[in-house]
Parts: sequence; C-alpha cells; structure tokens
Amino acid sequence: MISEKVAALLNNQVNKEFYSSYLYLDFSNFYVDQGLNGFANWYKVQAQEERDHALLFMQYMQNNDLKVTLEAVDKPTVLLKENMDPLKAGLKHEIHVTGLIHNIYDAAYQEKDFRTMQFLDWFVKEQGEEETNATDLIKKMDLFGSDPKSLYMLDNELAARVYTAPSLVL
Ligand code: MG
Repeated sequence: MISEKVAALLNNQVNKEFYSSYLYLDFSNFYVDQGLNGFANWYKVQAQEERDHALLFMQYMQNNDLKVTLEAVDKPTVLLKENMDPLKAGLKHEIHVTGLIHNIYDAAYQEKDFRTMQFLDWFVKEQGEEETNATDLIKKMDLFGSDPKSLYMLDNELAARVYTAPSLVL
C-alpha cells in the first residue's frame, strides 16, 4: 500500500519530468538558433529521455492502482545567451531533480514502502549519470568552446547521440 504522501510526490514527479523534457527542448531550440545542430540533437534526445521518465512514473503509479493527475507544465524561463548557458543550467537542473528523487525516496523509506524504494533505485543511479554527463559537457565546452574548429568537432560528436529506450521496464 502506497501512502497518499508518497502518491502525491510520485504524481508531482510526473510533472517535473515533463518539465525537464520541456526545458531540454528549449535548450535544443536555442542551439538550433546558434547553428549548433549537434548540441541541439543532444538535448532533443535528452528531452525524449525525460519524457520517458515521466511515463515510467505514470506507469509505476498505474501498476499500483494510483490515479495520475496531469498538471500544467511550467514555461522554461532560463535566459540563454551564451553557448555555455544551457549546459550550466542543465547541471543545476539535474542537481535539483536529484534532490526531488531523494525526497521521494526519503518519504518511502520513512514509511517502509520498499516497493517504491526499489522503483526509485533506478532513478537514483540515473541521476548520478545525468549529473556526470552534464558536468562532462561543461568541461568540454570550457576546453574547446572558444576555438571554432574544436567547437565544430564537439558539435559533430554530440550529433551522434541517438535515442534509446530506458533500461527500466515496468
Ligand atoms: Mg529525469
């Protein structure tokens, strides 16, 4: 039995994951405008992953007979001017999302809701990877972003990212 508190946090996370998807589409659009289609591709794939996260939270709720309520998704309001801006905002956002996941985990832990804890384990690991990826992108932009040839090669590297379905199956 999942408590109302944990159910509300799971439902909220559905919205947050859709917001992440929306935010990364905004980043993707920014890079399209900059002519950096590789970066744009990278964030478009990232947006697809975030949509998958939302669907996984929905599926988990529905597998446990909980009603999902879809709320309005916030408008992305991060001011983007420099090529580095989305990357730094992305890391900040992932750290925020890690906090949200840990908060749900903590609520489940308090209530000995072992099923939800096990479900969230995948997301705890995933968040570690998201933060690492975001940090790596910042490092690469720091190193290569100011040299046009290097930026061109980095953009080509990011163009190669392809979407793959999440490894978690519910
Ligand atoms: Mg996510």
